[in-house]
Amino acid sequence: MLDLLIQYWGTLQSRAASGDSAALKLAQLRIMIYQLPMMYGLLIVNTWGMVLPHENQFPRWQGITCPLILTAFCLVRIFSWLRLARTQVTAKQAASVLSSTRWLAWVFAIVFTTWSLSLMPLGDEAFKLHVAFYMAITVIGVIFCLMHVLSAAFTVTAIVNGALVTTFLVSGNDVFQAVAIDTSLVSLAMLIVSFTHFRNFAALVATQSENRRLANIDSLTNLPNRRAFFDALDLHFESATASGNRLAVGLVDLDGFKSVNDIHGHSAGDQVLAEAATRLATACAGATVLARLGGDEFGLIVTGDCSDSRLSLFGRDIASAFGDPVVVGDSSVRLGATIGFSTYPQSSRNKADLFEAADYALYEGKRRGRGSATVFSQAHRNAIIRESQIAQALRSPDLDNELSIAFQPIVSLEEARTVGFEALARWHSATLGTIAPGEFIPAAERSGIINDLTLALFSKALACAAQWPSRIGLSFNLSAHDFADERVVEGLARRISESGIDPARLDFEITETAMAQDFEQVRHAAEEFRSMGCGLSVDDFGTGYSSLSYLCKLPLSRLKIDRTFVSGLKEGTTAFTVVRTLLSLSRQMMLECVIEGVETAAELQTVAGLGATLVQGYYCSRPMDASAIASYLASERTGVSA
Ligand code: C2E
Ligand code: CA
Ligand code: CA
Repeated sequence: MLDLLIQYWGTLQSRAASGDSAALKLAQLRIMIYQLPMMYGLLIVNTWGMVLPHENQFPRWQGITCPLILTAFCLVRIFSWLRLARTQVTAKQAASVLSSTRWLAWVFAIVFTTWSLSLMPLGDEAFKLHVAFYMAITVIGVIFCLMHVLSAAFTVTAIVNGALVTTFLVSGNDVFQAVAIDTSLVSLAMLIVSFTHFRNFAALVATQSENRRLANIDSLTNLPNRRAFFDALDLHFESATASGNRLAVGLVDLDGFKSVNDIHGHSAGDQVLAEAATRLATACAGATVLARLGGDEFGLIVTGDCSDSRLSLFGRDIASAFGDPVVVGDSSVRLGATIGFSTYPQSSRNKADLFEAADYALYEGKRRGRGSATVFSQAHRNAIIRESQIAQALRSPDLDNELSIAFQPIVSLEEARTVGFEALARWHSATLGTIAPGEFIPAAERSGIINDLTLALFSKALACAAQWPSRIGLSFNLSAHDFADERVVEGLARRISESGIDPARLDFEITETAMAQDFEQVRHAAEEFRSMGCGLSVDDFGTGYSSLSYLCKLPLSRLKIDRTFVSGLKEGTTAFTVVRTLLSLSRQMMLECVIEGVETAAELQTVAGLGATLVQGYYCSRPMDASAIASYLASERTGVSA
């Protein structure tokens, strides 16, 4: 039995020495805050319960002064524990309170034992048994109350009951010896029960804290997860508002990640994310928090210096972290990172707004050109106000009348005539005036009304196309959001069949960026359009962040080379090489190719020299009203047009 106790004691000592986990210390303290005031209260009551019936037997210092000192000491301890109950205790403070409790147990047990034993000679056997009962029963109460600081419970039991048992064992009195044996056995049993209880308690706390850790960690990257990020944001925001310090929130989005999942599969995607997280952690070493918010989006919290220059520096470090390609199996993929920052109190004064502002800056960054860092500014705030005005105006009951379509010819160089028109949305709002599609289409996408808008515009475009000669095609732009909603694809198909127009005359345009957003949905919709007999074009080709394998996996019919490559096109320039390569690529893939944005005769000549067959641009014609099409086509027949 003694061996067992020694072994227990050793375990306790090593636990105390190695320092229990912070969570355990805090959990111990939380319980002690309620149990220790009770223990001191018990001591006061027990002491006076023992002293008062024998008041006349004691000298004053033993019967009054000592109990009064003990009571005062206990009251002070009760008061300090109650005060602790009202404060937010850190793990470090908890450790120090636990250590002082252990230390106090020694002092207190020695003083208490010395005083209690000093009373023994002052009375008869019955009195001695009362003192023994007082000591033993008080220790039992103390063991219960100190169950969560086991070493303190051991100390008190060993000193108080150890002294009592020894005194009674050597007394030569049979009754006292029997009491001593009883007391030691009960004490031992109590200690064993307490130890088992504490071991279970420590295991429970460890499980709870592991569960909490797992609930706050992203298992793929080992970074804090979304929940932990928002908890941290709560804390940092509170402290920034209290101290008046600045705070920045950053949102990082990986460019080109979606194609990794689509092309190489999800396990390669996971590998890439883990590698990206490692690179981000190195690049963001100065940030206070780096978390994975989900998918390929990461969040940063920056405290201290949140100046624009420091944030731009973060942006640069993050961008250069993705300079080298990430190796996946036998191949390697090139990624980029776009980051949007917002700062408190400059960007926003409230926490939800701060996150929204960072999200807006990220969205803007992606629109302007990936791989950049954008800090939310007053210009963005103005744009948000403007966007919300636009979103509101888009909800006008008269919207259908306010919308119209302009048509820009797509010209075949071989046939020297127009073979189709691209439908371009136009909007004249009664409240805001004329607004360009480059402004209202993104606003409609963000406010979730793009799908209705697409269907309304498509109906109008079809109604116009129905009036054209049957050889003239219609190209119609779709937004990424249109593919995400099955009802839009169905709505477009229904309108086509209701219009009676031959689907072979129709061509849907989709940007590379839209393709990359949800490739599976795009592919599904694309197959549906193609099975109806419609064409499918990749718009603004060369500006997005997509992969050639998308081109192979989609049933495309056309590429539209973006106008940025065409403006001022001259032999010997990189743009010239790009256009030549893309033209040859489209020929080899048996795709038609439209060169967009041809503005001058020189540009037309250059692209014609490169073998282009289809062109579109101001040089051929600016977008025109539906009512102008008939005379435009007629003038083409008579050779008036370019
Ligand atoms: P986009 O699809 O690339 O359309 C071509 C844009 O380039 C049109 O601008 C057109 O007016 C302009 N453009 C044509 N030729 C030239 C040229 O030679 N030089 C220059 N500098 N520009 C030229 P617009 O009409 O302002 O449309 C802008 C964008 O808005 C479109 O780009 C398209 O992405 C979007 N958009 C327009 N209508 C719709 C629509 O009905 N639905 C959707 N989802 N997006 C639309
Ligand atoms: Ca287009
Ligand atoms: Ca285009």
